[in-house]
This record gives sequence, C-alpha cells and structure tokens, in this order.
Amino acid sequence: MKLKDRTALVTGGSRGIGRAVALALAEEGADVAVNYVSNEAAARDVVEHIRKMGRRAMLAQADVGDYPDTFRMAQEILREFGHLDILVNNAGINSDKTFVKMDHASWRKVLAINLDGVFNCTKVFVDQMLGQGFGRVVNLTSVIGQIGNFGQANYAASKAGVAAFTKSLAKELAGKGITVNAVAPGFIETEMIHGIPDKVRNRLLDQIPLRRFGTAGEVARAVVFIVSADGDYITGAELSINGGLLM
Ligand code: NAP
Repeated sequence: MKLKDRTALVTGGSRGIGRAVALALAEEGADVAVNYVSNEAAARDVVEHIRKMGRRAMLAQADVGDYPDTFRMAQEILREFGHLDILVNNAGINSDKTFVKMDHASWRKVLAINLDGVFNCTKVFVDQMLGQGFGRVVNLTSVIGQIGNFGQANYAASKAGVAAFTKSLAKELAGKGITVNAVAPGFIETEMIHGIPDKVRNRLLDQIPLRRFGTAGEVARAVVFIVSADGDYITGAELSINGGLLM
C-alpha cells in the first residue's frame, strides 16, 4: 500500500471525481475526510465504503467558498486525525451562460467555490503541513481553464486562476517538504457534464483523439500517483487527463 498512515481530505468527496479519489486514496491505505456541502447521504456512503476497507473515515461538511466554515472543518479534521498529509482540492461547480447573459451572482458563485475554495482549504492546513515538514496538495483544474470555452467564462477563469495559484504555491513551498500540483481533466463522465446535449457530446467526441470521455477512476489514479512516493519529484505540474483533446 502506497499511502499507509497518511491522512487525506478530499473536498467535494461525495460524488463524481472526488468520490473516486477518496476511495482510491483509501485503497492505498490512507484515512480520508470526505467533504461535501449538502449531499450528506452520498458523503456518508463514501465514508462507509472506506470504513469497510479498514481505514478511518469521517464526514467533513463545509462550504469551501466560506472561509470561517472551512476553518471550522479543518479544526474538526485535525482533532479527529491529528494531522493532515494530503489535501485534494476537488470541490467545484459550473454555472454556464454566454458572457452577455452571465450575471454577477453567477460569476461570484463560481469564483467563490472554485478559486476562493482552493485558497480557503489550503490556507487552513498550510501551517500544520509546514510544521510537520510534509504535505501533498493536488488541485483540480480543467482543460477549459487552458483553452477557454463558449459559455464558461466564469468556470474557465476560475480554473486558470487555480493553475496559476498551483505554480506559485509550488515555488513557495518546495523547500518545505510540500508539493503542490494540479490535474486538468478533459471531459469526465460525472453529473457535472450530464446536461450536455447529445449533439454537443458528439461534436466533442470528434475532437478527442481517444474518442471517449474519461472516467472518474482514471483521474483518481493520477491523483494517487502524484501524492504517493511515486510523485515525490513532481511539483508545480498540471497533468492533463483529457484523451488528447489538448496536446
Ligand atoms: P460533481 O460530480 O458535480 O461533484 C461536485 C462535488 O463538489 C460534490 O461532491 C459537491 O458536494 C461538491 N461541492 C459543490 N459545491 C461545494 C461547496 N461549496 N463546498 C464543498 N463542496 C462542494 O463534479 P465532478 O465532475 O466530480 O468535478 C470535480 C472537480 O473536477 C471539479 O473541480 C470540476 O471543476 C473538475 N473537473 C470536472 C470535469 C468533468 O468533466 N466532470 C472536467 C474537468 C474538471 P455535494 O454532493 O454536497 O453537492
């Protein structure tokens, strides 16, 4: 097992990619805190799966876009686990509209969760990671942050912001035993993309050399690689997992 005795927090661990990451970390031996904002039943299901593997797991409810709420969650996790080694900043939303129709509230909401959320969750654990001289931070960005997309100005801006944050923090923390990386998925089969109409799906598939969307498990395996000893020499990277959509 690659992550024995490690502790992890996966934000947005109740569904989709976050769920797959939480389970994959636990399979490699980590104890996992499963963050969610409102879907307690789904998060509880992930926690129960992890406990069945013999690992410690806990529910960690918080709106990552809210700093005081995130701070409270961090205290609960540190009380329960004693320390945190691995932080996967995965929680994210989209609220798609062309820029002309996009209102300020939609812009703020996406930036608050996707970008401020990464700041908040990293901020509340960084001192503890510095104190122990070890940390692994992985942020979920997106191919959309790299190439932009019609109707996703808010989402693309948030993910490009996270990519730049990742590289800056990687430089600041490299000498302190903490690596900071991003994974940039293309189109992955989760609830986030279920609303895409068939016509658009087919157009997207035409642009993906591997001719299919990815799975949450495929993203999770990359995260495990980065946070295990296999990834010890990787920092400041943004790993594309997009079937060749951008190369
Ligand atoms: P998803 O299936 O829609 O799940 C979203 C997760 O985020 C849920 O666990 C949700 O919790 C949580 N969440 C939402 N708002 C939150 C908040 N304010 N505080 C805490 N948790 C919150 O999403 P996904 O497709 O797995 O995406 C996961 C990450 O990968 C996101 O950052 C997304 O931008 C990125 N990504 C996804 C794709 C894709 O094609 N799916 C591609 C590129 C990047 P609840 O269950 O409580 O609602």
